[in-house]
Amino acid sequence: MPHPDLFSLSGTRALVTGASRGIGLTLAKGLALYGAEIVLNGRHAESLDAVQRDFNSAGFKASTAVFDVTDQDAVIDGVAAIERDRGPIDILINNAGIQRRAPLEEFTRKDWDDLISTNLNAVFFVGQAVARHMIPRGRGKIVNICSVQSDLARPGIAPYTATKGAVKNLTKGMATDWARYGLQINGLAPGYFATEMNQKLVSDEAFTEWLCKRTPAGRWGQVEELVGAAVFLSSSASSFVNGQMLTVDGGITVSL
Ligand code: NAP
Repeated sequence: MPHPDLFSLSGTRALVTGASRGIGLTLAKGLALYGAEIVLNGRHAESLDAVQRDFNSAGFKASTAVFDVTDQDAVIDGVAAIERDRGPIDILINNAGIQRRAPLEEFTRKDWDDLISTNLNAVFFVGQAVARHMIPRGRGKIVNICSVQSDLARPGIAPYTATKGAVKNLTKGMATDWARYGLQINGLAPGYFATEMNQKLVSDEAFTEWLCKRTPAGRWGQVEELVGAAVFLSSSASSFVNGQMLTVDGGITVSL
């Protein structure tokens, strides 16, 4: 029978990409509250150091790993250094991501390439680098951060939608190739959450009015509301869940 500690992450180590702010930072804190040691990733040492200090003063075990997730060599070296110096990565939250907005007919090649590189290539780079260490151990959890845009489009963000749809399917592919080695790979799809990435939308009153009408729950999501799903997908509670995308969106994707 399942134990009440089914959701405990104590004794585990989690690498969270894009952990300097927003959803990554909140998920890192959430996993730490459930007992995980956290490795905070991002591109800027100063912001990660500040987060690490906050974690440490709250009594959480945390360290930083500064690398750009779009640089495959840096990812391979960064992951190897964590495994060597800190110990095995039990959980990967593949979270780092960017947004670029423009009508599709005006979208620049540079913005397209940046989106593909950060939101899709990097999920493969980090996922593969970590899985290569997890596979010989016969266990590991990978949570790829998807989006409601994994299934639905919205004006002005077609390339972002393309990347998040691809991440949903890459999640299925990772599960298909790696579940046999004892890994669980799943997606977590946030709806609309007020983070820096969405600052433009948050300060747009007309958008907020539309969103609140369109969302059955009638409001923006609070980032803390993603923690439960992330802990579930990172813990032994999800030991036979594989290739799924768990959507946390106040119901926006199930209603017209
Ligand atoms: P955010 O506030 O802009 O934070 C993005 C994080 O990613 C930062 O920590 C940033 O750190 C890091 N990052 C960006 N590029 C990176 C790179 N090349 N290498 C390493 N780190 C990088 O964004 P967010 O809203 O929290 O979004 C996080 C994830 O959730 C994204 O995948 C996004 O698509 C997804 N999502 C967000 C929402 C929402 O409502 N906010 C909804 C659905 C899905 P540095 O800049 O310091 O490197």
